[in-house]
Amino acid sequence: MTDSINRRHLLRGAAGMVVGTAGLVAGVTMSRNAMADDAFKHLEEDNATAKALGYHHDSKAVDPKKFPTHKPEQFCHNCQLVQGKDGEQWRGCTLFPKKLVNADGWCRSWVKKAGTK
Ligand code: SF4
Repeated sequence: MTDSINRRHLLRGAAGMVVGTAGLVAGVTMSRNAMADDAFKHLEEDNATAKALGYHHDSKAVDPKKFPTHKPEQFCHNCQLVQGKDGEQWRGCTLFPKKLVNADGWCRSWVKKAGTK
């Protein structure tokens, strides 16, 4: 009788481990897929917010008549809101979550990065 109960406990425990492991594997797979979906993508110039802010991948292509606040020395790479590391061509920006802006880009929210000339 005791052996029978112990065997039943053992089988239940093993079944629970299999189900638990399967759930863990499924969870890891789902979070990998979610991470792939959440991967940062290049901001498109026709993104609604980008358009509203006049974002351009190339600051040199900004029309000064259309954007009179733009100055030739203003780029995403010297903006206070840019993220990432110096030297990276595509970097995060606090205004565009999960998107990457071009280091040579610009938008009308440009703010001089602290410590730059
Ligand atoms: S806020 Fe700054 S870093 Fe972000 S897109 Fe505009 S200029 Fe570039």
